[in-house]
Amino acid sequence: CADLRGKYIADTIRDVPDYPSKGVVFRDITTMLADPKALRYSIDLLHERYENYGLTQIVAVEARGFLFAAALADRLGIGITLIRKEGKLPRDAYREEYALEYGESALELHKDALTHRDRVVVMDDMLATGGTMSAAIDLIQKTEATIVEAAFVAELLYLPGRKRLAEKGISSYAMVAYD
Ligand code: AMP
Repeated sequence: CADLRGKYIADTIRDVPDYPSKGVVFRDITTMLADPKALRYSIDLLHERYENYGLTQIVAVEARGFLFAAALADRLGIGITLIRKEGKLPRDAYREEYALEYGESALELHKDALTHRDRVVVMDDMLATGGTMSAAIDLIQKTEATIVEAAFVAELLYLPGRKRLAEKGISSYAMVAYD
């Protein structure tokens, strides 16, 4: 990591082998969230990166994306738009299905949540296969909002997430990278 704060954050994320299934190394951020310095550094890095982008909203992906989006949006003095798992939003919503390891799920976004005046960063904790963020991007692209970037605490470089988002014309930022 170029920034020492990225290294500090990386050291607080715990590797859990064979979770949720054999052969998968789960990167557990609960220990990172519990470390006040790592949490502060993560929001500092995001704030420094995005403070001059003229953002109007942080779009937060359920569930861990909510945590970072909330702190970042508060720092930037802007609001948060939620992308939720299906069946949670009460008003008319766009829906995108996406593949999970077993079966599929869907994400939703209120149709009236964003307009052509919005410039957003989309926030999640981890970029793995990119399936979740691709669905989130597709939802936002149904509105007329401008997507500046997709942001993550960490990305898994051995999976095709970054490439998949690039194919949609979306760049990715991650504070920690796993080779
Ligand atoms: P994906 O759709 O494959 O990019 O994965 C999206 C979500 O699944 C991320 O936001 C993570 O919350 C979770 N996830 C996938 N793989 C891992 C992993 N190896 N360690 C921790 N979380 C993961």
